Amino acid sequence: MAGEPQDDCLFCKIAEGHVPATIVRETQTTVAFRDINPQAPTHVLVIPKVHYENAATLAAAEPAIAADVLTEARSVAQDEKLDSYRIVFNTGAGAGQTVFHAHAHVLGGRGLQWPPG
Ligand code: AMP
Ligand code: ZN
Repeated sequence: MAGEPQDDCLFCKIAEGHVPATIVRETQTTVAFRDINPQAPTHVLVIPKVHYENAATLAAAEPAIAADVLTEARSVAQDEKLDSYRIVFNTGAGAGQTVFHAHAHVLGGRGLQWPPG
């Protein structure tokens, strides 16, 4: 069923506590944890607990939970005292998506180039 945990999904395992992660925030619908390969001084991933392949399919199926992901991204930035930061949703392998469970990257703590690579 849509949104159900997938056996082969790393982020479902993190959401269920079956794979360890450095969790910084958790709500009923989301988990936020530090990226294992940080690209900035702050690099936190915010995931929904439900499984959707990417942010767009999450938003189409569960708009309230997609909003929770964004609200949590803001809270991470506040917790980390970031004035400026970037929220990234890589969508599709060609855009660098490697884990096919929706997630927001929250990046900050250094100057961020625009346009990105
Ligand atoms: P993406 O490439 O947009 O799909 O982002 C996936 C992110 O997950 C990458 O930035 C990885 O460094 C990160 N990642 C992969 N495995 C883990 C893990 N076990 N714990 C935390 N972050 C991870
Ligand atoms: Zn998943």
